[in-house]
Amino acid sequence: MFRLLCRFLVITASSLLLSGSVYWENVYLTSTDFRFPVVRIAAETEKHPVVLIFGGIHGDEPGAYLAAEKLAEARLTKGTLILLPRVNFYSIMKNVRGFFGDMNRKFEDENFSSLSDPDRRIVSILKNLMGEADVFINLHDAWGFHARSPGTFGQSLIIDGAKALFPKNGQPIDIEALGGEAVRRANKELPRAQRFALWNHRTDEKQEDLRLEEMKSSASYFAYKSFQIPSFGLEVSKNISSDQTKVKHHLLVLRELFRALGVQFESFPDSKVLPPELRGIELSGPKGRFFLPPGSALNLSSPGPYSVTRIWGNRRFGWSVKLAGKDGENLLDKPFLLREGENLTLFVGHDFDQIGKGTLRVAPPPSLSVTLDGRPMEIPLGMVLSLRPGETISFDTEESTLWEKIDLKGFQPPDRINRSDDRGHPVSADKMQRRFALDTEGRYFPLYGKKGQKTTFFALLEILEEDLSPASFR
Ligand SMILES: [Zn+2]
Repeated sequence: MFRLLCRFLVITASSLLLSGSVYWENVYLTSTDFRFPVVRIAAETEKHPVVLIFGGIHGDEPGAYLAAEKLAEARLTKGTLILLPRVNFYSIMKNVRGFFGDMNRKFEDENFSSLSDPDRRIVSILKNLMGEADVFINLHDAWGFHARSPGTFGQSLIIDGAKALFPKNGQPIDIEALGGEAVRRANKELPRAQRFALWNHRTDEKQEDLRLEEMKSSASYFAYKSFQIPSFGLEVSKNISSDQTKVKHHLLVLRELFRALGVQFESFPDSKVLPPELRGIELSGPKGRFFLPPGSALNLSSPGPYSVTRIWGNRRFGWSVKLAGKDGENLLDKPFLLREGENLTLFVGHDFDQIGKGTLRVAPPPSLSVTLDGRPMEIPLGMVLSLRPGETISFDTEESTLWEKIDLKGFQPPDRINRSDDRGHPVSADKMQRRFALDTEGRYFPLYGKKGQKTTFFALLEILEEDLSPASFR
């Protein structure tokens, strides 16, 4: 029963209307080790064709999943992208092709994988998403250069057969011609040695090559056969050593495929992938929400169930959390127990790297006196304090043995002499400089108490705004 309930459990992380393009993000299988995001970006009026794109069905193909992540920056004027930037995140965290076997060989039928196989739940969701799509593209990295050595998969655009329907239930389409055109155009921008080739597997036929026979249970063949939609496998060579270049090649062929399919863009992403940078961890517990800066220790006044609800960093996808002594590979959204006398170390990962940590313990936290809209109150260490539109907050100027100044990032006090101490100055949302926020939307601003160079206090100011959710999404 629990499994059934969890199966399509979805949380909406955010939705935004950005200059005519609608952005919508859901997380599937939340509160499990297998949670993965699904992003929808749609033009405001002309929502077809709908192109479904998988990145990271194989966990050791960073070019594929980083390219899908970059596509989340696109803004459309015609069509819809449904992006899965981390399909097989469990295997990505381990940097292996498939921790529970090859997920891309589990689409043939429900009996192909055993009931206890965690991939089964993911594959079932993936098949449902195909039902929404007019076109399907599965991104991969593979060895070799197909144009030079035809047995290898690298630098190829794979199709399962020459004809499909497009849009759904509409006109037959020559995908061989369409894919061939995309490849020809992309190749104009590549050196001869790195050119792509179109490869028709003719998956319907009996295959001599066992690797091609296996494709009968792949995602792309399932989409082609069951939904009769144009379906592509895009393979960038693993022999290209730089992930940045792999992403560039993925985006180059995708751009030409989108053009051939009639998807139009207001802006198309560049291929630059920033190294991950951790900015903060959000926890939820019995007494509210808390902020833990990287490398810090957080005293919490009460034991009980806590969960990590958000990671702030310079990258949107790929984050995970582990706790020393607690079971599980990814504890994001999963409640855990913090006991009296216990020191819990929390490790933050990005894809397969560990990049930061923090500590939790039950101990009396220091607190800062503030006045929020005329009401005096105490905010304990780490607290996330919300400021509504029109409200003001000011930090008490009373002497403290713990800190000499309070510095709210993104706030410039009017007093130019003592510019790094923000005590005594009323703060409101309109005075905050958004580029100093932890998040790209510009809503979360850390504040630090300092004694000399040492950080002796921290908390987080959240700026609440009008709801930006679009009225509907189709
Ligand atoms: Zn692959």
